Amino acid sequence: GSTFETPSQTRVFTVANQKGGVGKTTTAVNIAAAMTRAGLTVLVIDNDPQGNASTALGIEHGSGTPSTYDVLLGDSSMAEVVQTSPYNDKLLCVPSTIDLSGAEIELVTVDSRETRLREALRSYLVHRTAEGLGRIDYVFIDCPPSLGLLTVNAFSAAAEVLIPIQCEYYALEGLSQLLKNIELIRAHLNPALTVSTILLTMSDVRTNLAREVAAEVREHFAEQTLRTVIPRSVRISEAPSYGQSVIQYDPSSSGALAYAEAAREISRRPGPTTSTTSEDGTA
Ligand code: ADP
Ligand code: MG
Repeated sequence: GSTFETPSQTRVFTVANQKGGVGKTTTAVNIAAAMTRAGLTVLVIDNDPQGNASTALGIEHGSGTPSTYDVLLGDSSMAEVVQTSPYNDKLLCVPSTIDLSGAEIELVTVDSRETRLREALRSYLVHRTAEGLGRIDYVFIDCPPSLGLLTVNAFSAAAEVLIPIQCEYYALEGLSQLLKNIELIRAHLNPALTVSTILLTMSDVRTNLAREVAAEVREHFAEQTLRTVIPRSVRISEAPSYGQSVIQYDPSSSGALAYAEAAREISRRPGPTTSTTSEDGTA
């Protein structure tokens, strides 16, 4: 079917890969934009000092704009800093500004430095319910290309990890380090975290290389890897310079259609089963 499913509870994804330029931000904003176009409500948390996700969603994020930095290190609640995308009122964004670039170091000396984002997000979701604001269906946290405290905060706040993998040489290099770190997070901070989704990005479909990388990823991660592969597309790379996702910029382009299909696929897969026990102790 061509329809999107609405999840029974908010699904929170961290989009992570410690390599830069593999399509993390592009994936976060385009999946989010495609879902909101289909009527879902989606929050993007820009957790990268570069602020590329904020830019691509048309969100104001000049230095001094209330942002992820103020949520992690200041007194701001998420409700105070969240903005609505000018393109879609169901698309929300916690912007990132350049102020976040010092956060990796500033976080080192503060209390509960690994779980600040988790607590802020939890409070925000509770706040929305209390205020009668609509439920958020999906949250995507866009991470910087590192495994530092910003990414640790994102892993602590999420139930699912979405790993974009570029269909290039060395695609799998560094992946074992990423998976090892996720294991550490599971052991110490967030036992519920799972790598639920892998997306092959920037595929040059005409090349054998892209096919080989895709086959290798599918061999290792049969269940996690989406059937949809994102092609390399000039329209995808042009969109951010117009402050837009490609879903907005050129909805009928091959890149926009692929991201829409990937978003639909995600929405139709079951979220992680919550292993919380009910009040009478039965599972
Ligand atoms: P990351 O967030 O992992 O650093 P980005 O999403 O910013 O990666 O992508 C890196 C660069 O590649 C950006 O300039 C982006 O516009 C471009 N890009 C991403 N996906 C594609 C694609 N499928 N086709 C063409 N260019 C892409
Ligand atoms: Mg990025």
